[in-house]
Formats: sequence, structure tokens, C-alpha cells
Amino acid sequence: MLALMGAILTLLWIPIEYYLLPEALMPYFLLLRCSVAACLLALSAWTTQPYHLGLAHIRLGVLILIPSLFYLIASLLLSHYPPVGLSRGYEYFPLLLITIGAIFPLTLSEGILAVFAVLLFYLVTNSLIHGLLTIEILNTLWLMLLLGSIALWTELSQLHILLRLYRQATRDPLTGLFNRRVLIEQLQNFMNNKHRMAVLLFDLDRFKRINDSYGHLAGDEVLRAFTKILETQLREQDVIGRYGGEEFLAILPHTTEQEAIILAENVRQQCHAVKVETILHAQLQFTVSIGVTEWDCNESIEFLLNRVDDFLYVAKERGRDCIVAKSLR
Ligand code: GH3
Ligand code: MG
Ligand code: MG
Repeated sequence: MLALMGAILTLLWIPIEYYLLPEALMPYFLLLRCSVAACLLALSAWTTQPYHLGLAHIRLGVLILIPSLFYLIASLLLSHYPPVGLSRGYEYFPLLLITIGAIFPLTLSEGILAVFAVLLFYLVTNSLIHGLLTIEILNTLWLMLLLGSIALWTELSQLHILLRLYRQATRDPLTGLFNRRVLIEQLQNFMNNKHRMAVLLFDLDRFKRINDSYGHLAGDEVLRAFTKILETQLREQDVIGRYGGEEFLAILPHTTEQEAIILAENVRQQCHAVKVETILHAQLQFTVSIGVTEWDCNESIEFLLNRVDDFLYVAKERGRDCIVAKSLR
């Protein structure tokens, strides 16, 4: 969008330059502005799906590079003629470029890199024309650093707010695990990419009784303790989330049912080893029932979740604190 706006504004400026520029320069500027507009237009049409951070970095770099080159060439062309009113306008160009960064939610290192890229272009351009570090150049550099710091501040604030919103929208506040929406999205992603995977559905046993006997706060502590068990027993690549009240779901990529059963058994055993201390210093223990299944490459999310839910139901019927899977039925 910014590149598109840049392309339009670059062209709209042509009539103004037509009146202000020396006639001999006009064909060069016409060519220059049309080329810049074409590059910006091409950049605006360059979108990637799905989103790719590396490509986004390249696109941002090109977005800075095009107007910086424009500034360099325009300044060199103008330097052969006595200053016209217009050349003052070009002096503000690097300042404009540095503040544009504030539109993006950049990280500190990305923001600093963008500021220094513009600074470098400004220095190269002006040292080619005026020689290195005149007092005017130093003055503009100082102003650029000031505006660059304000832009950095804004970029970081934007990023901070976005990350907070992202966290609120994707995490369960009690356990910090992914919420159900993210779990479904991840399942869909794995299915779209035809990744082999196993799914574990956990349900804490007689959890209502824990709440009734020890209170809801103790129940919450148990949910946190169970979260810690999942995080320590499952692996880095596994996606763990809170599926519902005392139900948790784990997606295990590139995992067979047999491997998933071993991991599920570790979780079940670990629950026996953990004692949760309540605020009244009572120690309580809990158990978990687990359904385990492997995704068969052609089935839908609903089919997969229904099957693992059925296995969990069977585990409850068998007296709880156990694992049920196709091979264990
Ligand atoms: P089962 O072994 O058959 O699973 O029995 P259960 O008691 O665990 O199952 P049930 O579905 O009857 O009860 C689940 C309880 O979990 C009811 C609800 O109050 C409680 N619960 C749900 N979310 C939370 C929570 O965030 N904190 C606490 N403390 N309790 C919760
Ligand atoms: Mg339940
Ligand atoms: Mg339960």
C-alpha cells in the first residue's frame, strides 16, 4: 500500500517539477520518476502467501532502497545546476524516509538497520556532492538521528501492542498454553501440508471432585501443575494447548501411534509423582485419562477429534488413569 502511494505521488510531482526545473534537466527527471514509479508499482504488486518473514524483510529493504536511489540520482543531477527552490525540497527527502519507518511494527534491530541504511545513503549522496561532513551535513545527520529515534520508539510500541494482542488472542490466561482456536489452526496447517502426526487428548480425572473438596483455586493449581508436566514430558516440536476446562490436546508432528503412546504413558506416570500443595497446605494428587490416535492422511479434523474423544471416553469407562488407542483397545 505504501509502495503504491509512493508510485502515485512520484508521478503527481512531475507537473510541479516541469515548472521549477531547468528545462535541460526535465527529460532526466521524467525518466527517473517514471522508473521509480514503475519499481514501486512492481513492489506493491509483490505479495506472498503464506506470509514469509524473510521475504517481508527483503520487501522492506527494497522499499527503502528505491527512494534512496532516487534521492541519490536526483541530488547528483541537481548538483550541476545553481540551487533552485526545488532542491531544498529534496533536502527533506531523507528525513521523510526515516520517519516513514514508524508505520511498521519493527523490532529494535530491524528499526536500527532501517535508520542506518537511510543515514548511509544520505552520507554517500552528500559526500559525493559537497565533500565529507560539512556543518550542514552534520546538522541534518543530527536531525535524522532524532527523527530516527522517534520512529524507533513508535515502531517498538506498535510491536509491543501487537504482540500483546496476539498473546491474548492465542493463549489461555490460566496455563499460558495455546487456546483451542490455535490448536484447530495448527491441526489444519499440518493437514494442509500432509504432515504425519499423532494427537493426544487428556482429561483430568474426577476434577469436579477436586474443586468441590479443595476449592477452585486448588483446582487451578492442579491445572498449572499438569501444564508443567506436559511441557516437561512432551517435546519441543509438539503443540500443546488447553482444549477445554480440564481437557488438554497435544499435536505430535511426525509421530507414530506407538511413539505417542510412550509419551502419553510418561505424562500419566508423572502425574502420579506430582503432589500439588493447596493454600491450606493440603497435598493433593490427581490422575489423567488419555486418548491417543494417529492421523490417517485423508480424514478431516472432525473425524480425527471424534475418534480420539471416543478413545478418551473408553479410558473413562475403564476406570480412568489409563491410555486408550487403536492398538490398545
Ligand atoms: P471425569 O473423570 O469423568 O472427567 O470427571 P470430571 O469431574 O473431571 O469431569 P466433569 O466434566 O464433570 O467436571 C469438570 C470440571 O472442571 C467442572 C468444572 O467446574 C471444572 N473446571 C473447568 N474449568 C476450570 C478451571 O479453569 N478451573 C477450575 N478450578 N475448574 C475448572
Ligand atoms: Mg472433561
Ligand atoms: Mg475430567
